[in-house]
Amino acid sequence: MNIEIINTGSELMLGRVLNTHQQWLCRQLADLGYVVTRQVAVADTADDIEQAVREALGRADFIVTTGGLGPTSDDITRDRIAALLGRKLTEDPAIVAHVESFFTKRKRTMPASTRVQAMVPDGAIVLHNAHGTAPGLALHISPNPFRPDGQPSWLVMLPGPPRELRPMFTDQVAPLLKEKLPLEAAFVCRTLRTVGIGESYLEERIAGPLKPLVDAGLELGYCAHTGAVDVRFVARGCGADADVAEAARIVYELAGEHIFGEGDAELEQVVLRKLEEKQQTLVLAESCTGGFIANRLTNVPGASAVFLAGLVTYSNGAKKQFLGVHADTLHDHGAVSEAVAREMAEGARKRTGVDYALAVTGIAGPGGGSPEKPVGTVFIALASASGTKVINPVNRYDRETFKYVTTTQALELLRRELTQKAVPA
Ligand code: ATP
Ligand code: MG
Repeated sequence: MNIEIINTGSELMLGRVLNTHQQWLCRQLADLGYVVTRQVAVADTADDIEQAVREALGRADFIVTTGGLGPTSDDITRDRIAALLGRKLTEDPAIVAHVESFFTKRKRTMPASTRVQAMVPDGAIVLHNAHGTAPGLALHISPNPFRPDGQPSWLVMLPGPPRELRPMFTDQVAPLLKEKLPLEAAFVCRTLRTVGIGESYLEERIAGPLKPLVDAGLELGYCAHTGAVDVRFVARGCGADADVAEAARIVYELAGEHIFGEGDAELEQVVLRKLEEKQQTLVLAESCTGGFIANRLTNVPGASAVFLAGLVTYSNGAKKQFLGVHADTLHDHGAVSEAVAREMAEGARKRTGVDYALAVTGIAGPGGGSPEKPVGTVFIALASASGTKVINPVNRYDRETFKYVTTTQALELLRRELTQKAVPA
């Protein structure tokens, strides 16, 4: 099967927007068992779009275009494709009503130009846009005049904004693809997400025991992200389910303590869900991460139920004033020290009455290091009813990566605490 992606947008050519659709769509399709054979990005010019679509129609069974469905003069994808295929565009009253209500709900009047989004090419399936105005459009081109044998193709047009495209793909395009172009053999894909272990250490632990399955055809892939490593298994055909389940069992057995979730799980989501389950609360006292942990946690819907406050206590004065860190501790040990991290966490917990207080203090660099405390030194403390734990990693990266890695370590410290099995008395 031949699947192609065409990303449209002059902003992509100018480097003003990162083409995340390319990566996101390829990933979604791969996880469903469909491999993208070609992807191309073109500017918002009629000729470029038309040429890219014409070429793709000459080869592909399923084509996804992104962008250019909006109301502005550079949004020409719908018109050009309809013209290329000789399909008449007709206004769809249901889409007009959706666009009107979109504006009414936001107390805005509907600009006349937005009406163009309700134009639908003959025979198109309309993909409802729950997060914006322009619907997606799916066309079955049968016979396909651009293929020598007239073999049919599907062409799906999706809107540019990621928050509109992603749910539309997941809820409407993926089911359409599975229905119209089902895979020939069973396909099973599973991704285990790990943290706190480098990819080579992980491979050392699991590669040997997984070898018989890999030799028998299981695909095994490692993907290292900042602070996390994914292990992905793919199997096809009969026995695929059992092979992937066995591979996952092996990894859970050998490195289970590092696995924080599967699929698209994010560490901050996992931590929040655990806190919710336990009905426990959290406060943060951040120094070198500047509120980044709070940012990650508050990106998760429902954070307010368990995350009560985050203090960015950057100066010594703030650590004393808001957390009750002692002047002597700061003087004797320095702001970046186990003792101060401990007092930050314990002070935050005592003053707010929460179940968990997580504190970080460290040297992001590039300046401020010393031989005993080099740049990258971090102390992360977690205060809870069972006492205070402190870890002391050294994160030698650029500032931004330092902050991200540190937030991951802090969240992981909390996740471990939350998932710890209760020791029977
Ligand atoms: P709109 O109605 O918002 O105009 P549209 O369907 O016409 O939507 P575009 O105008 O092409 O889409 O893109 C809108 C915005 O979506 C862009 O400014 C950009 O921020 C984002 N976007 C577009 N294409 C991509 C892409 N390939 N990757 C990531 N973001 C994108
Ligand atoms: Mg647009």
